[in-house]
Amino acid sequence: MMAAESAAGHATGHGHSTGGTGNAVNLGTPAVPGARSSGPAATTPRPDNPALIDTFGRVATDLRVSLTDKCNLRCSYCMPAEGLEWMPGDQVLSDDELVRLMDIAVGRLGVTDIRLTGGEPLLRPHLEDLVARITSLEPRPRLSMTTNGIGFAKRAEAFAEAGLDRINVSLDSVDPETFERITRRDRLRHVLDGLAAARDAGLEPVKINAVLIRGENDHEATSLLRFALENGYHLRFIEQMPLDAQHGWDRTNMITATEILDLLSTEFTLTPSPAERGGAPAERWLVDGGPAEVGVIPSVTRPFCAACERTRLTADGAVRSCLFSTDETDLRMLLRGGASDEDIANVWRDTMWGKLAGHEINEAGFAQPLRPMSSIGG
Ligand code: SAM
Repeated sequence: MMAAESAAGHATGHGHSTGGTGNAVNLGTPAVPGARSSGPAATTPRPDNPALIDTFGRVATDLRVSLTDKCNLRCSYCMPAEGLEWMPGDQVLSDDELVRLMDIAVGRLGVTDIRLTGGEPLLRPHLEDLVARITSLEPRPRLSMTTNGIGFAKRAEAFAEAGLDRINVSLDSVDPETFERITRRDRLRHVLDGLAAARDAGLEPVKINAVLIRGENDHEATSLLRFALENGYHLRFIEQMPLDAQHGWDRTNMITATEILDLLSTEFTLTPSPAERGGAPAERWLVDGGPAEVGVIPSVTRPFCAACERTRLTADGAVRSCLFSTDETDLRMLLRGGASDEDIANVWRDTMWGKLAGHEINEAGFAQPLRPMSSIGG
């Protein structure tokens, strides 16, 4: 079995950087352009390299795993009020299947970081046990979770003991009325309790993800930042992306990164953070001279695809090379059909080899993926 260190090391050791960011390996194929490109995957054979490389030289080391497509909130920009038709239970990977795939990812493919998401990952039964199994893998991946935080307060200590390293909590408003209007649930108190418990359990830095929606919560940009600063949380605003189940995304309703910075600048002085961005999606800004920072993830207006280090696994066992992929590869069939670990690893490598240059949201022919964010894993 190939150790993750040697897999990633092999991939990055001779590499050059695509735009000075993220992992990269020099394959002699074109650097990632700003505009769309289908990439040379169809005509260029995949080199004999154990890591998850693509034709543009990027190396995926960060795995997002969706544990369920179910959620206990109904954020208006994500899901309709009535919810969605959930995945049939027999299609959702079992804990054993998930652990096997994560073992392949860290042991053979060079994945170093795993983030659990959904849907709402806390709805997955016995999640603490799954976390303990993931953090026992060799080499041990860094493990984080993206959650709405509901119910986390009672479980924070157990998650910390199981080895969870960090959490990101989604919070779009600290005003109970706005929170309920956006999420269609009166659960703000539970989220705030979850945040505090995460901090108290040492799952730091505790990050908050916020999406601003025009006319809904864009007047709360500064109050969200004040709340984060007062409580020692790291706030990041995410531009709204065309990934809602209703396909109702409208560019004119999206609050852009520039607008977010303008809104924050009415109350705070922002200067670019000197910290290296690497493959991280957030542009970071020092607040009032620092050391506190705020992040903005400009997924739509300033895409960072050239530095992307991510590979994704859905709860029903599909590997995706991008949030916006319109195709994906079914690993569940392989898992349940008796394929070997190396067979599965090779199919995963092939999928990532075909990763496109960018998400193409700003291109005329952009097509929103059929799977919504809640099913892909945000
Ligand atoms: N339930 C978990 C949570 O609330 O964090 C994990 C899944 S949720 C889909 C992950 C993140 O995606 C949340 O921060 C949510 O606000 C964000 N999100 C959902 N739909 C989005 C969209 N269309 N554009 C940008 N972010 C979105």
